[in-house]
Amino acid sequence: MDGAVLVTGGLGYIGSHACVELVRAGRRVVALDSLANSSAAVAERLAELTGRPLSFVHGDVRDIGLLIRVMREHGVDSVLHFAGSKAVGESVGRPVAYYDNNVGGSMALIAAMHGAGVRRLIFSSSATVYARGGAMPLVESSALDAGSPYGRSKLFVEQMLFDLRASDPAWSIACLRYFNPVGAHPSGRIGESPRGVPNNLVPFIAQVASGQRERLQVFGGDYDTADGTGVRDYVHVLDIAEGHVRALDYLERDGGGCVAVNLGTGQGVSVLEMLREYERASGRPVPYAVAPRRAGDVARCWADASLAQRLFDWRARRSVAQMCEDSWRWQCANPDGYR
Ligand code: NAD
Ligand code: UDP
Repeated sequence: MDGAVLVTGGLGYIGSHACVELVRAGRRVVALDSLANSSAAVAERLAELTGRPLSFVHGDVRDIGLLIRVMREHGVDSVLHFAGSKAVGESVGRPVAYYDNNVGGSMALIAAMHGAGVRRLIFSSSATVYARGGAMPLVESSALDAGSPYGRSKLFVEQMLFDLRASDPAWSIACLRYFNPVGAHPSGRIGESPRGVPNNLVPFIAQVASGQRERLQVFGGDYDTADGTGVRDYVHVLDIAEGHVRALDYLERDGGGCVAVNLGTGQGVSVLEMLREYERASGRPVPYAVAPRRAGDVARCWADASLAQRLFDWRARRSVAQMCEDSWRWQCANPDGYR
């Protein structure tokens, strides 16, 4: 592990936590980010958390020449590719922009890695690549069929990476399919900083608990679940970050291949269960009203997380209570995120 790790999207929500865990594991890190959905303040906070300055490059992952230069200058031998656009709803209205950034960005990165002689890659995939309506838990061999331009962009890249590896055994690749990353670093210094109205459940609950929003709209109270609300596999962002460190160790140890692996807890939690847990963690009430179902939502979705355990010796360790406590600490210390 002499080479440096390039973390694209390294100032984003998950990428920033991955940077902390990589440094903690003794890795040399260079983060690249366009700041399209993040703030330069994250670089300072990462330096503070890790006790050393962060090598940060402000740039776009679609800039092949820049990427080759960065990889050569820093002696990069592995890439964690987080950079991309992630709002499912927005992707329906701006599909070409999503394919450009997510598929085009990944293609540019692969070209640059090829140019710089780097062949180890971890790609941020998503549980949205799975077909709707399948049996739970989702195993990696479950049917794939993404339901949105965002999901399809992830699926295309995964398939491209499998083809790439089949064409050239020098590559070693892991596509990590995240379930629902939530929470924040326990220091309260880095976390999720959504712009505008949060799309996701936990950031929205955080803003209701802190009094920034009046009430949560619970999208659907008539699903075929124990309490009628949607069930998801929430996983602490630091567990996700550790999953990347373990996956990288695995790729180095076991060499080649291209694998797709779930990162989840294996536990389903309903919207109302999450809300109650957040009330406990924050000591604040979270008023809510049941609203119609949100278009495109499934009733339930959780992972079979045993492959990650077998391949990487990784499992999620943090509880739902910790997810809420860490989210709340971040929310209280940074009511406006990084702004
Ligand atoms: P994020 O938006 O916080 O982080 C993405 C980062 O990439 C941002 O800092 C953004 O500025 C940067 N970026 C975007 N386009 C770029 C470009 N062209 N060049 C350079 N930098 C660019 O999102 P996140 O939640 O940290 O997600 C990271 C990755 O994980 C994404 O690929 C996302 O699709 C995937 N993912 C996220 C979730 C989730 O719920 N957060 C779930 C599954 C998969
Ligand atoms: N949800 C909700 N109200 C909100 C946001 C989300 O009831 O304001 C529900 C949503 O319907 C789903 C769960 O919370 O059942 C998780 O949604 P999120 O958008 O966080 O993640 P998803 O699994 O949809 O990617």
